[in-house]
Amino acid sequence: MEAAGDKDYVSGESRSDMLHIDFDNSYSRLPDRFFARLAPTPVAAPGLIAVNDALARELGLDPAALRSPDGIAMLAGNRVPLGAAPLAQAYAGHQFGGWSPQLGDGRAILLGEVIDAYGQRRDIQLKGSGPTPFSRRGDGRAWVGPVIREYLVSEAMHALGVPTTRALAAVTTGEDVYRETTLPGAVLARVASSHIRVGTFQFFAARGDVEALRLLTDHAIARHYPQANGALGLLEAAVAAQARLVAHWMSLGFIHGVMNTDNSHVGGETIDYGPCAFMDDYHPDRVFSSIDQGGRYAYGNQAQIAVWNMAQLATCLLPLIDPNQEAAVEAATAVVHGFADHYEAAWQARFRAKIGLLSPEDGDAALVEMLLGRMSVLRADFTRVFRGLADGTARQEFSEPDAYDSWAADWHARLAREGRTQPDAQTVMAQVNPAVIPRNHRVEAAIQAAVTGDFAPFHRLNDVLARPFDTRPEDADYRAAPAPHEAVRKTFCGT
Ligand code: AMP
Ligand code: MG
Repeated sequence: MEAAGDKDYVSGESRSDMLHIDFDNSYSRLPDRFFARLAPTPVAAPGLIAVNDALARELGLDPAALRSPDGIAMLAGNRVPLGAAPLAQAYAGHQFGGWSPQLGDGRAILLGEVIDAYGQRRDIQLKGSGPTPFSRRGDGRAWVGPVIREYLVSEAMHALGVPTTRALAAVTTGEDVYRETTLPGAVLARVASSHIRVGTFQFFAARGDVEALRLLTDHAIARHYPQANGALGLLEAAVAAQARLVAHWMSLGFIHGVMNTDNSHVGGETIDYGPCAFMDDYHPDRVFSSIDQGGRYAYGNQAQIAVWNMAQLATCLLPLIDPNQEAAVEAATAVVHGFADHYEAAWQARFRAKIGLLSPEDGDAALVEMLLGRMSVLRADFTRVFRGLADGTARQEFSEPDAYDSWAADWHARLAREGRTQPDAQTVMAQVNPAVIPRNHRVEAAIQAAVTGDFAPFHRLNDVLARPFDTRPEDADYRAAPAPHEAVRKTFCGT
């Protein structure tokens, strides 16, 4: 692409065939203006933090080979595996509502794509892999903090059943990264169903490049929504997926933190774990991101922001929807407005199950809202209250138990109307209300230890998060809410 200076960045040096990966790189077959070709920048001394064995196998990779010196070299970006077509993707985006015509992978390299054990196409990307033509003033690197955070939280999201990018591996670089202080560098190997963002469409729409939009639309449909019919069909599917995704986040108290259009995945996966957080005590205005001064991406705003992002996608697709602009706008607007119904249905289904109900009745949403309202007034712990409904311990999560008791009277009446016994409802609830989430103070502690080279807290936390619905006695500490002095109220973008 032009901004990349049209250099051929693929060095071809140190390509490795020890680790066999069956690449099939469809993005790389798109026109040159979609990306800049370049290899990762090698690092001084790669060291393994973690390999995700189960995910490796799913991708047809040998976990032992990934742990070998050759595998670690690949994960650090020091060796480009045979068959890879490394590139940095171009995209644009609205960041906190402000338009940036060119962002792109400033610290990530897509190595290529593989077809997994289920026949699904998956991207393998290195994040923190060195500067690219899109780096602007950034160094192209990541420190160990954000790498560990993304690893832990994305894998926790997966275990919770939320569509998300995955973590295949993490390595240290043996190099320092300079932020406010000097910090150890790291690289995350990320896996995703694609890295197509709303901002990818915006990149081409802003340039009036309808031909590229057409190719990108076809590519996105083939990868994510093969049943979708044309650009309008893609929009419909993306809107529905985004509505389901955000409702799922809401049901877990998850706050993404940077819902910029470049962090909005067209396939409906959670992507780009920056200053994200799971709430401890509940309040709809909760914000953790240190850079989100206005609370744009607060917990309670996430659905609205997703609609805004989908409206940006719709705008990009207009020329492909109908040659008559008025007709295109009308059709696209109707689809974006459809978000509300998808979201409401998904939200109600999630929260209904969270209180042990499966068949809908008028007033269910009000019953849930009443509980949430009391939780917010008393700052009750989101995860522990809902899990407590399953385990019979919810009442003790309220500093004023009357607030729970009066709600519970209505709830029990509602359960009875559904013909559901308490144990029956508890079974439903224990399957959807996690006991363990990646609590901020735990993630923060894992990061603090990692900075000193101690990855034991990371491994232990990662292990517990893989079974979020279990209540093993030895994991009791991980189910506890933070003591007031432990609570982490701010998370940092920490690139
Ligand atoms: P993010 O806020 O992490 O979604 O990133 C927004 C944009 O900034 C993307 O284009 C990133 O590639 C870029 N970026 C973030 N951190 C760095 C960094 N350390 N070096 C270069 N580019 C970066
Ligand atoms: Mg991003």
